[in-house]
Amino acid sequence: MKINEYFPPRKIEKQKTRCLLLFSGGLDSTLAGKVLEEQEIDILPINFKSCFFDSKNAIKIAKQLNWPLIIVDITEEELRLVENPKYGYGKNMNPCIDCHAQMIRFAGKLMEKYNARFIATGEVLNERPKSQNPKSLKIVENESGLVGYVLRPLSAKLLPLTVPEKEGLVKREKLLNISGRSRKPQLALAEKYGLENYPSPAGGCLLTDPGFSKRLRKLLEWKGRLELNDVELIKKGRILFENKTLIVIGRNKKENKALMKNALESDFIIITIEKPGPVTIIRSFEKSPQEDIIEKASLLTIRYSKGKKLPSLTVKIKHGEEIEYKKYSYIDWEKYF
Ligand code: SF4
Repeated sequence: MKINEYFPPRKIEKQKTRCLLLFSGGLDSTLAGKVLEEQEIDILPINFKSCFFDSKNAIKIAKQLNWPLIIVDITEEELRLVENPKYGYGKNMNPCIDCHAQMIRFAGKLMEKYNARFIATGEVLNERPKSQNPKSLKIVENESGLVGYVLRPLSAKLLPLTVPEKEGLVKREKLLNISGRSRKPQLALAEKYGLENYPSPAGGCLLTDPGFSKRLRKLLEWKGRLELNDVELIKKGRILFENKTLIVIGRNKKENKALMKNALESDFIIITIEKPGPVTIIRSFEKSPQEDIIEKASLLTIRYSKGKKLPSLTVKIKHGEEIEYKKYSYIDWEKYF
């Protein structure tokens, strides 16, 4: 885990108690911070980022509210977690229970460094049927190793008393009792606090995206392990899975550039010669891709190029130091696709 004090923490005022706020930049975690601020708690927002979710919203909202912000990169830890989550996945490849527990556990490790007395989150009881029901919230707390120190300000009145409440650091009567999937109470609070332009709930985590999850599941099935480079590769382009081989075709200049950056020595890289076209990457999870797969990928590269209607077109196929040129004359697309 790599820590970045993006907007540096301020000195805690003497009479104030500090808490670390798990902060995604979404409305719920922003409101949790606002509710605590109202009772003079010094909140220090911590945002976790990885190859599946970024910090854009957290940066935007922290800047808007003039909050400090600590960004913690947990890419490696998240990859290992997604491979085999103890409490399984949600609807897609999102292991939300394990993920929340991990974030709270990591935040717990920073409590001493930042003189924080407890952790706060924007979780709302029963907002998500699987990961935020009473049992799941309890599991998250137990698994994080911080029993009693996790305060959920938006639903606290419906949950057991926490240590900061018992110690009088937080006034329970000023906390809330929100439960369920309706967003009405949160929207009313947003208005009360004058919050505008907040991001939509659960937006931004690729693990909740059905299309991406399908690709990720396939990768995991084939390789038994998730590597950062493979995950980056399946984020872009047109993707085809063929016999333990991944074919990725760039859809525009930006994706072509990103694919070139991601390419490994062992990959096959295909481009068209006479006319501009996509960059295609072939990555095999076996020894080497079969000839017919290379041919299919070459033809697809031509098909998505500006030269698809020409009588013939050449592709360059690069594999490590080896370079091969192949000219395709009349292409009977019907025959292939
Ligand atoms: S939505 Fe994504 S980031 Fe949020 S808890 Fe679930 S897996 Fe983690």
